[in-house]
Amino acid sequence: MSALLEVEDLVIRYPAMGRMRAALTRQPREFDAVAGVSFAIEAGQTLGLVGESGSGKSTVARTLMGLKRADAGRIRFDGRDITDASAADYTRLRREIAMMWQDPTGSLSPRLTVGSLVTEPLRIHGKQADMNAEAKRLLEMVGLPEHFAGRFPHQLSGGQARRVGVARALALDPRLIIADEPTAGLDMSVQAEVLNLLAEMQGRLGIAILVITHNLNVVRHITDRMAIMYLGRFVEVGPTERIFRAPCHPYTEALLSANPEPDPDAARTRITLPGEMPSPRNRPAGCEFHTRCPRAKTLCKQNAPRCEAHTGGHEFTCHFPICGK
Ligand code: SF4
Repeated sequence: MSALLEVEDLVIRYPAMGRMRAALTRQPREFDAVAGVSFAIEAGQTLGLVGESGSGKSTVARTLMGLKRADAGRIRFDGRDITDASAADYTRLRREIAMMWQDPTGSLSPRLTVGSLVTEPLRIHGKQADMNAEAKRLLEMVGLPEHFAGRFPHQLSGGQARRVGVARALALDPRLIIADEPTAGLDMSVQAEVLNLLAEMQGRLGIAILVITHNLNVVRHITDRMAIMYLGRFVEVGPTERIFRAPCHPYTEALLSANPEPDPDAARTRITLPGEMPSPRNRPAGCEFHTRCPRAKTLCKQNAPRCEAHTGGHEFTCHFPICGK
């Protein structure tokens, strides 16, 4: 069975400087924000893309939604090559691929009622339906009472606004939801509610979900597999629980060490990485993580590590992994 979404060697570039300056400085005009990532999501599966701000994860999401062009690589959805899909193709694709934007309240038009907001995708795509009945159905699905249909976004709490965002995403019965920081700005108890809601929808409707986040609690709560990004590349990919229990890449280990463990016996010593993530305009030679890696050796500065397969679909890119080779 082929995957619902397949991404192969995706490269996404941004302009670094104008033509004249590039000629004068002999620097490239563009830089790779995403430098060759590959992944697949099966129907009903959840994948987390994890990384610090600037790692390229949101750029991947924007490209999957047709808001940014891929500069190289292929994207296939349900067996169809959508890499060079036109704006009209993407309008059709948005029936099958829905986006949940990061800012729960800011992404809702303030002039529309909740009822209009949740049924807006149906109107945009010309679906003939009883919109009042659809609003009721969608609000019920996300656990909001019917009378919320008459409210405006400013009358909603952050958690309620996020539920409205989920209802909008579900309106067209999508097969894939891309959720960008689904719990951003929510307090802990509301975060858990929203994650449970997404997990419930996925279990009930068999939707695939791609979660873009820097929040490791979100990843652990909701994803089957996770991919850790650094400077626009994956440094580790595998089953979520397995990576949480035994990470291979030193960057993953450092990220996990900063995340509070519910089990005190499993708590890790906090690893503080020196410095900041380098700019993708100026990538370090060899392993691109060597400038911050506590395990770096001379080889790391000279040779870029290859992707290595561990057992159980777990892969990493490191000469001296924590988990051994
Ligand atoms: Fe660290 Fe070397 Fe592994 Fe890179 S290859 S992550 S520098 S140990």
